[in-house]
Amino acid sequence: MTTAPDPTTSMRTHRCGEVRPEDVGRRVRVCGWVSRRREHGEHLAFVDLRDHTGLVQCVVPGTVDVRSEYVLAVEGVVRARPAGTANPDLATGEVEIQECTVEVLSVAEPPPFAVDDRVDADEHLRIRYRFVDLRRPRMQANLRLRAVINAALRAGMERQGFCEVETPLLWAPTPEGAREFVVPSRLQHGTCYVLPQSPQLAKQLLMVGGMDRYYQIARCLRDEDLRADRQFEFTQLDVEASFVGQEDVLRFVSEAVLDAAERATGTRPSEIERLTWAEAMDRFGTDKPDLRFGMELVDLTAVFAGTEVRALAAPCVKGIVVEGGGETTRSRLDQLTDQARQLGGKGLAWFRVLPTGEGGTGLDGPLARFLTEDDVAGLLVATGAAAGDLVLVVADEHLTVCTVLGRLRVLLGGRPVSEGPYRFAWIVDFPLFEGIDGDGNPVAAHHPFTMPHPDDLDRLESDPTSVRSQSYDLVLNGWELGSGSVRIHRADVQSRIFAVLGIGPEEAESRFGFLLGAFRHGAPPHAGFAVGIDRLVAIFAGEESIREVIAFPKTQSGSDPMTGAPKPVAPRVMADLGLREVPAPE
Ligand code: ASP
Repeated sequence: MTTAPDPTTSMRTHRCGEVRPEDVGRRVRVCGWVSRRREHGEHLAFVDLRDHTGLVQCVVPGTVDVRSEYVLAVEGVVRARPAGTANPDLATGEVEIQECTVEVLSVAEPPPFAVDDRVDADEHLRIRYRFVDLRRPRMQANLRLRAVINAALRAGMERQGFCEVETPLLWAPTPEGAREFVVPSRLQHGTCYVLPQSPQLAKQLLMVGGMDRYYQIARCLRDEDLRADRQFEFTQLDVEASFVGQEDVLRFVSEAVLDAAERATGTRPSEIERLTWAEAMDRFGTDKPDLRFGMELVDLTAVFAGTEVRALAAPCVKGIVVEGGGETTRSRLDQLTDQARQLGGKGLAWFRVLPTGEGGTGLDGPLARFLTEDDVAGLLVATGAAAGDLVLVVADEHLTVCTVLGRLRVLLGGRPVSEGPYRFAWIVDFPLFEGIDGDGNPVAAHHPFTMPHPDDLDRLESDPTSVRSQSYDLVLNGWELGSGSVRIHRADVQSRIFAVLGIGPEEAESRFGFLLGAFRHGAPPHAGFAVGIDRLVAIFAGEESIREVIAFPKTQSGSDPMTGAPKPVAPRVMADLGLREVPAPE
C-alpha cells in the first residue's frame, strides 16, 4: 500500500489502521467512515472507524448517534484492549481508542451494500455506487497497486533515457483497424476528430521529430465490444525509440516490466523466455501460450502418415495428453468433441490408455480398434502417455489442429490467469500477413508500417503469406500483454507493402498522408511497443477482470450506471455540432 509517510494533517494525528501498542497513553485523533457501531448498554458504545489503512476500535462513553458510513473525527486516548479481547485478525487489534469524543463530519444514507471484502455485491450495483465500492480494502489495494506499477514502469523507462511526451486525444484515424470513437467538430460541421485507439502515428512522428526515446502512460480508446479483459478505454505503456532494432526494444520493455513485476510481487521473475510464433503455435496451439503448465501439443503426423483410418488422415495430426484423464466420462468427451467442432475442427479422436498384461498398454476409444499395432506404439511413444491417461487427437489443416488443441489444452489444464507463478514470454517472428481477404489481397497482421523480416523480403510479392515480420508480442500467463514492431521507415519498402495490401497511392495518401509526408523529411529507423497496463495490474492484483483494477469502469454493455453515460445531449448542443438524429439503419 502506498500511504503518505506522515499521516498528520490539520484534522488527524493517525490513520485508523496504524494505531499500535507503542501509542498507548497517547491522545490521538483519527478520521474515517463508520464500519460498525455496537452499543454496550447505556454506558458504552463501540465504533469501528475505517480509512484506507484499516480499522480501529473506538470506545465512546454513553451512546452515540452514528450509523454505517457516517464520516467522523474521533479523539481519545489509546489503551491496550482488556485482557482476552485482543483481535488477532486486525492490525490494530491489541489496542483501542478510549474515552472518545465524536464529531460527525458527514452523515450518510444506508450503504447500498456492505463495505466489506467478504460480502459479494452485485457488479452493476458496485459500479453504480463505485464511490462506496472503492472504500473496500480490495479496491483500495488494487488501485494502489496500479499506482505502484505505473510508477515502476515510469522509473524503468526514465532510467533507460526515455522521455515522456503527451500526445493528443483529439486525433485522426489510426491504422490499427479497431472501430474508433468519433468526436464531431463544432467549428467545422460535418467533420470529426477521432479518439486515438493508440498513439501509434503520433509516436512515429515524434521519432521523425528527433525525440529519440519516447514513452507515455497513454489512454487508448476503441469502440469494440467489452469483455473481462477489454474496456472502451484502456491504458498502455506506450514506447517508441529511434536507431534501434527489435532486440533493443525487447530489452527496454523487459527491464521496465520486470521492474514492475518485482515491485508488485516482491520477487523479480526470471528472464523473459522467447518463442517464435511458429514454435508457440506448434507447441501450444496459440500465440499467447500459458507456460505455467505442460500438456504441449505432440506432432503425430508421421505416426499416422499412412493410416487407413479416414478420420486421422490429414495434412497435420497432433495430440495432447491429459494426465490421469482416463476416467473422463463419455458425456464430457462428447462435450469436448462438440467444442472441437465449434472451434472449426472436423472432430476429436480420443483414446484412453489402458493397462494391458505384461506391462504393455493398449488404447480404448471409438477409433482404437481401427489402429494398427504400429499406430498404437507410435502414438504412445510420441506422446509418452501412460496407463490411466487420456490422449486427444485432432487431424486437419495445421492451423485448425493447433487452434483446436490449443483451446482444449487451456480448457483442461489451464488455471486462473492471475495465479502465480508469473510466466512472461516474448513471441517473435509473427507472420506479416494473417491471411488473404475476399479480393485476394493479404491482410496485414499488425499495421501496414510493420517492417518485414529482412530474410523474407524477396518473397514479399511472390509468396506474401510466408513472410515473417519484425513484430513481437509480450504474453503473461496466457494473456496478451502487448505488441510492437520495427517500423518501416523507407519509402521503397512501404510502397511495396501498400502494393501487396492492395492499397493504392491515393488511398495511402488519404489515410496515412501526414505520416508518409513526414517520412519524406528524414525518418530515422525506429521501433516500439505498447504494454497493456490494465491487464498487467489485474494479473498481479489476482483479478480475472480488468474492471477490478479500474477506478470507474463501464459495464459489459458500455454504459456507466453511476454517471448515466452515454446520455442524449440537449438539442442545442446537437445544433451547435451540426448534428440531427436520424433513424438507425435497418
Ligand atoms: N500501437 C500498437 C498497439 O496499440 C503497439 C505498437 O506497435 O507500438 O497495439
